[in-house]
Amino acid sequence: MTLDSLRFDNAWARLPEDFFTRVSPATWKNTRLLDISPRGCRALGLDPVCFDDDAPARETLRQLMGGETVLPGMAPLAQKYTGHQFGVYNPALGDGRGLLMGEAQTADGYWDLHLKGAGQTPYSRFGDGRAVLRSSVREYLAGEAMAGLGVPTTLALALATNDEKVQRERVEPGATLLRLAPSHVRFGHFEWLYQSRRHDDMRRLVDHVIERHRPALAASESPAVALFGDVVARTARLIAAWQAYGFVHAVMNTDNMSILGLTLDYGPYAFMDAYDPRLVPNHTDANGRYAFDQQPGVGLWNLSVLGQSLTPLAEPDALRDRLTEYEPALQQEYARLMRARLGLESVVEGDAQLVQDWLTLLAEAGADYHRAFRALGEWAVDDGEWLRQEVPVEGLSAWLSRYRERLQEEERDAASRRDAMQAVNPLYVLRTHLAQQVIEAAEAGDEAPLVEFRRLLADPFTARPGMERWAAAPPPQASVICLSCSS
Ligand code: AMP
Ligand code: MG
Repeated sequence: MTLDSLRFDNAWARLPEDFFTRVSPATWKNTRLLDISPRGCRALGLDPVCFDDDAPARETLRQLMGGETVLPGMAPLAQKYTGHQFGVYNPALGDGRGLLMGEAQTADGYWDLHLKGAGQTPYSRFGDGRAVLRSSVREYLAGEAMAGLGVPTTLALALATNDEKVQRERVEPGATLLRLAPSHVRFGHFEWLYQSRRHDDMRRLVDHVIERHRPALAASESPAVALFGDVVARTARLIAAWQAYGFVHAVMNTDNMSILGLTLDYGPYAFMDAYDPRLVPNHTDANGRYAFDQQPGVGLWNLSVLGQSLTPLAEPDALRDRLTEYEPALQQEYARLMRARLGLESVVEGDAQLVQDWLTLLAEAGADYHRAFRALGEWAVDDGEWLRQEVPVEGLSAWLSRYRERLQEEERDAASRRDAMQAVNPLYVLRTHLAQQVIEAAEAGDEAPLVEFRRLLADPFTARPGMERWAAAPPPQASVICLSCSS
């Protein structure tokens, strides 16, 4: 399949007319492709070779990302939604700098092609509708990294830069990202219809999501309750994975929460270096509302806002019942992921405490979250020297004796346990300072580091010769990089 053979079936455009505004993408100066994602290609059923250097599809894609063309069957539009930002309802949201270009129908289902950085829309308010290269690189790599870890996420087909000068804290090069997701429906879409008392339209939206994305729920007695239960379960699993892999989203506003349980809208996110449950990578979040250790609670808060929005369609008690499934589901999934990270196959009482005490050690040592797990994996077969370097605290030996004792319950030998641990504990992590290096190179016209890092993140568990610098411990100054929402 090549780009031209994509077929579009734009269901959003068939929803009531104020669900969106048709907008043509702006045309940017001298758009250049920086990278095309093999994962994004696979999602759409495209063969990456169709984008080889002289292939016509490569030029078509470049033009698409520069606003110079749209593909046959696309019908670009900006979606309307609202949401709670930092706890406060904001009715004036919507796609302000991105357009849903079309909904591709593939063998595996539907994929939104969403061009981020496509110019102003009626929902831009005071924004310029543009995206800068810095944040677009960060979003591009984040999709790859999350997918590489097995965490649900939006993806991207490609990243491009252009010769536009975009004013942020400094003047920065512009960029566009062709984002992919089965759907971009957000909690905020439902909040909008609830707050404006559009109950029939909300029913249409529920039906739309179920028909397109959750057909198994179509026969449910109450579609709204069934869909809510599905969102609760997926959000629980999503946030469990964030906690297990040390990811801080940093802007968990309800307009950034996906109905499909995907990680959506990457802004000032971070994968933590030193383990720090209080980490707040967004320097404008002074109160730490979206700190790492707040994410499970914020997920519950956001789900309760969604549940409230669905009350015109369903019994509040039925919705509340589904909401109570969130915490146990999150804990269960978190326990499963952390057991795997510790190399434990069996389930034994006390595992949660063992995990907690390991994390307490890491916090006390200021240990690097990711390297500590790799080192623990090696400890099973080496002399433990690396682990002692990574987690230099007195309590380590006592914890290791408990861990050793716990391993008696396991059937695997040490070498296969090590292999299993290294297959779930990433060697290559999307650290903020590494993303920064990639960004600086890309801004200087060199996309090679971007491509190299993207390849590693796509399979972050397998060591590649010559790639040691991407797996190195972060330098001490790494933690001072400041991230803001202005993207
Ligand atoms: P975000 O913080 O990325 O989730 O964005 C919050 C809201 O601001 C959304 O409605 C965006 O569409 C809008 N927005 C963010 N950046 C821009 C921009 N540069 N131009 C126009 N709208 C923007
Ligand atoms: Mg957003």
